[in-house]
Amino acid sequence: MVGLRPFYIDWAITSHCNLRCGHCVANPVEEMPPELLVELAGEVVGLNPGWVIVEGGEPLMRKELFEVLEEMDRLDLYLITNGMLFTERVSRELRRLGVKVIFSMDGVTGEVYESTKSGASFHRLVEAVELASREGLFHGVTVVLSKRNLHQVKGIVRFVSDHGGKFVTFIPLQPSDRGFSDPYYKKYALSPGDHARVLRAIYRGLQDPRVRVFYDEPFLWAFADQEGVEIPDGRSGITISEFKGCACGTSLYIRPDGAILPCMFSPSSSVISKYPEESLRRGWERVRTSPLIKAFKSRRWREPPCSECEYFEMCFGCMARVCKLSENLSGADPACPLGAGVEARRNTVRKNFLHLEAMSFRSTTPP
Ligand code: SF4
Ligand code: SF4
Repeated sequence: MVGLRPFYIDWAITSHCNLRCGHCVANPVEEMPPELLVELAGEVVGLNPGWVIVEGGEPLMRKELFEVLEEMDRLDLYLITNGMLFTERVSRELRRLGVKVIFSMDGVTGEVYESTKSGASFHRLVEAVELASREGLFHGVTVVLSKRNLHQVKGIVRFVSDHGGKFVTFIPLQPSDRGFSDPYYKKYALSPGDHARVLRAIYRGLQDPRVRVFYDEPFLWAFADQEGVEIPDGRSGITISEFKGCACGTSLYIRPDGAILPCMFSPSSSVISKYPEESLRRGWERVRTSPLIKAFKSRRWREPPCSECEYFEMCFGCMARVCKLSENLSGADPACPLGAGVEARRNTVRKNFLHLEAMSFRSTTPP
């Protein structure tokens, strides 16, 4: 029996996509047969998660999508789409089912947007956003933030505000399974300094009362505490202010082939369970009690600067990134903008300690 319900379930219903970006972290995998999808949707309902994100690939490519959404319609549902297949018929169906629509939008000009999403049309995206907005479905956007679109943060928030959206969630670019040898990540990932600058720009400079902006990184709460800024409330469909730090162990990711992983960015080998070989409830139990996740979230098991950070219990670092970029899971999060400060304080403490030791040695040494 599972005692706690998942905060949310993130279900990639298909790995097929109508675009050809080539740098998507979702690896193509075999898909579950259609007859299992509705059954699995029933199991999702049985776990009573706080909310459910349905995504892909491109979820509108899966023809059973509406049947699956219908099965889960008593839950709080969010659909993440690239918008290219968003039509009047699709919007009518989604409205009937009470699904909130989030567009993945990695740029606010044709040039940037179309260069990050190969094969997509910015004009088509704007039409889709306008349609969703007219139908009252436009919840907001997710933005994979990288060096390619960092300069458009303000413009993206303004675009969402102008089109009646409520939320923007920036998701900094994550490495693929290839880690540092992923050339796209190497070229475009944000440095700790970039994170610090953009976090300040968002939470100090960007104040649009109509749009709530989330930065989907576990160190968001540490940053907010250190800088004395407030994280907005409300449910973006991705991040919520009440739950702090890495969501591994408190949420579930279902891959298109039915594999259960801690998070969509977890290495593809970190499969914890598989549907239908095991029930979703059993998969959730395995995630919730995973010794590996527990160890990752234990200060004793981790290395500095994370293990010595005053914010550890509200952050933990990003488990997926540590898995992919560090040599072992006990490592620190290499992207953290606060890590250098923790390390510097640690060195000062160490220096002071050595100084004190030397002083006490001098004072106790006989002349
Ligand atoms: S592994 Fe990283 S991306 Fe996944 S929930 Fe944890 S912090 Fe978020
Ligand atoms: S040092 Fe580690 S625990 Fe502290 S804020 Fe950075 S990632 Fe989080």
